[in-house]
Formats: sequence, C-alpha cells, structure tokens
Amino acid sequence: MSLVKRNDISFIGCCASYEDAKTVLFGAPFDSTASFRPGARFAGPAMRTESVGIETYSPYQDRGLEALSVFDAGDLELPFGNAARALDAVESFCARVLDDGKTPAMIGGEHLVTLGAVRAAASRHPGLSVFHFDAHADFRGDYMGESLSHATVMRRVWDLLGDWKIFQFGIRSGTRDEFNLAGEHIKTERFKASTVRDCALEAAGNPIYVTVDLDVIDPSEFPGTGTPEAGGLSFTELLSAILCLSESEIIGYDICELSPHYDHSGVSTALACKTLREMLIAFSGRVL
Ligand code: MN
Ligand code: MN
Repeated sequence: MSLVKRNDISFIGCCASYEDAKTVLFGAPFDSTASFRPGARFAGPAMRTESVGIETYSPYQDRGLEALSVFDAGDLELPFGNAARALDAVESFCARVLDDGKTPAMIGGEHLVTLGAVRAAASRHPGLSVFHFDAHADFRGDYMGESLSHATVMRRVWDLLGDWKIFQFGIRSGTRDEFNLAGEHIKTERFKASTVRDCALEAAGNPIYVTVDLDVIDPSEFPGTGTPEAGGLSFTELLSAILCLSESEIIGYDICELSPHYDHSGVSTALACKTLREMLIAFSGRVL
C-alpha cells in the first residue's frame, strides 16, 4: 500500500468523480461588493479544511455523505473586483453542471454570487422558485449606484423570475422601501422561518433553488460574517427549515457569507460545515 496521497482537500465525504457525481460542490470566492466587512471569498478553503471536524453521518436524517456521490470541484477562479464577469463565470459553470444532469451546490462568497447560479437555473427550469434565508432583504434597486451588489441580489433575481417566485425567511433588516416593495411582489417572513413547510406546499410541482445567507443565524451562534444582525434564527431553527424542503424538487442551492477572518473561535465555520452537510443530504433526493 502506498503512503503517497494526492494533496487535495475536499469537503468531507465528497469523494465521487465528476462523471459519477449527482451533486457538484464548488466555491465562488468573490466578495468585492461586500458593503461592510469583506472576507467571504475565503470561506471555501476554510470550510473544506475544517470539515474534518464533523462527521459525514447525519443523526438528524440517518444518512451519510458517502452514499450521495458528491464531487468537490474546488473554488472557481473569479476576477476579483469585476462583479459582472464573476457572475458570468458562476453562471457558465452552473450551466455545465445542470446540462450534465447534476445538481450544483455552491459555497459563497458574498451573496451576489447566487445571481449567477439562479440565471443558469432559471433558463433551464421554467417556473423556478427561490427560497431565500437571510437577515437582510437584499431587495434594493441599487446600492450606492451599483445594480450588482450583495444588497441587491434578490431584486435582480426578482427581475429574472417575476412576482411571487421568491420566498424569504428570517428577514429582519432592510429599508422601509425594500419591505414595502417586497410586500407587493414576493413573500417575506420576518424574523422567523416558521412558514417554510406551507411555502414548499405552495411551490409544489415547481423546481426550487435554495439560497442560505448564513447571517440569517443569530450572531451569538454565528459571528463570522460580514454583516452580523442581531435577533436571528438558531441553527436548530434553520435545520428544521432545511429538512422541511427535503421532499421538494431542489435543482440547485448555495450557502454564502461565511467570513472566516471574523470567526476567531472557529464556531462559525463549524456551523457552516454542519449546515452544508445537512443541505447536501436533505437535497440529494430520497432515492439512493
Ligand atoms: Mn444576503
Ligand atoms: Mn445577509
């Protein structure tokens, strides 16, 4: 037996080849529009390295990652400072994964990267809905004149999908205008995520993209993020919401806004890894 191993670090349990994979995990290391504290572009490597600290088996779902056939493609090479080109790169990568019949699972990056993935998903899945977990509405028309920003990402998704296709949960920050406009065009649950099951029933029969901006979690549990906002969900509440979607047709998903440099104890990265494990298992389909 050889003692020589390849020096590659994948997220724990994600050891399938691309050809065999049903799910393709990849990182989108972009944080150039972060409005407060940047650093989310370092989340992918941090999560892969720290993922050895969790088990591949989920006692919540009685299933493990090894059986899922997940390929970890590593991080994309994205042009730092150019949001449009970074989104194009995310979109074209997701397009290839979807066209190969696989499910993209993205590690942000700031939340803007979601727009690239949703563009690829929306052009291939008519009737797409987006389930959005976040502290922030992200529904501004622009942010300081910029239409592409992590503060505008859901507005751009709405431009793409139209009315009543976005379901938001945990929202507790935004301008009065954002909340008013959102109330006329999308579904927003403030502060909690207790309506996820009802919303999943409402979207039943349609494909769903799920995006988790981790700042939806209370900063007492998840301080390692660029825009912490008090009054958030617990990990347990977010997990319950994710599990409510395990019977839905999830065609892509992401987890964004872990900023490792603000995670001095490592607990935020550990929480992000565990959340991703549960998403990978819950969204892999029931037939294995
Ligand atoms: Mn966000
Ligand atoms: Mn946020």
